[in-house]
Amino acid sequence: HMRTLGVTGGIGSGKSTVCRLLEALGARVFYADEEAKRLMTEDPALRRAIVEAFGPESYLPDGRLNRAYLAEWVFNDPEALRRLNALVHPRVLEAFEQAREQAAREQVPLLVLEAALLFESGADRLVDHVLVVDAPEAERIRRVVARDGVTSEQVRARMQHQLPPEELRRRADFVLENTGSLETLRKQVEALYRRLTSVRSDNW
Ligand code: ATP
Repeated sequence: HMRTLGVTGGIGSGKSTVCRLLEALGARVFYADEEAKRLMTEDPALRRAIVEAFGPESYLPDGRLNRAYLAEWVFNDPEALRRLNALVHPRVLEAFEQAREQAAREQVPLLVLEAALLFESGADRLVDHVLVVDAPEAERIRRVVARDGVTSEQVRARMQHQLPPEELRRRADFVLENTGSLETLRKQVEALYRRLTSVRSDNW
């Protein structure tokens, strides 16, 4: 029986790193944010809905998504962001359901749904368990500054759009404290993977 695990956490918490470690152990990972970007470009019905709501400037003449235009619109307008998410999230959840069927057919032991907005999109209701990855804010800022070459102010601005860590932790089934080395993280992830895929976890 295949289990499903939602993985979320604040910016720079280590979600993607945890998911790559899970993949190395044999899990399949569905990356919701990447899928959202793909569908916004490739799904004709979603494209039409976005153009209707935000105008033809939403796409560049060559057909690619006009990220700068949409980002500027939604960044300071929570209502517009809510409308955009209301168009995109249901399509992503549908795609996850297809990924689930495929993974089950292929007898994948664990299907992971990585989503920065796991709770906000309602995706938490589609998975058996939720893992929240967390680390102290200062550490998360340091990691993102090093990774993306942005300023700490820019990282803080992006944090404003996310649920506070206390709330994420409260809603989690598992919390992974990503405060040590990458080797420590690997061991923590391996222990969790074993726990989730062992036969004895069947009657949770
Ligand atoms: P975002 O929300 O921005 O997508 P994320 O939660 O997916 O971020 P990652 O990209 O996994 O976070 O990690 C952020 C950065 O911190 C990456 O460069 C990653 O390699 C690094 N990192 C993560 N965990 C550790 C750790 N335990 N020790 C050192 N570096 C780490």
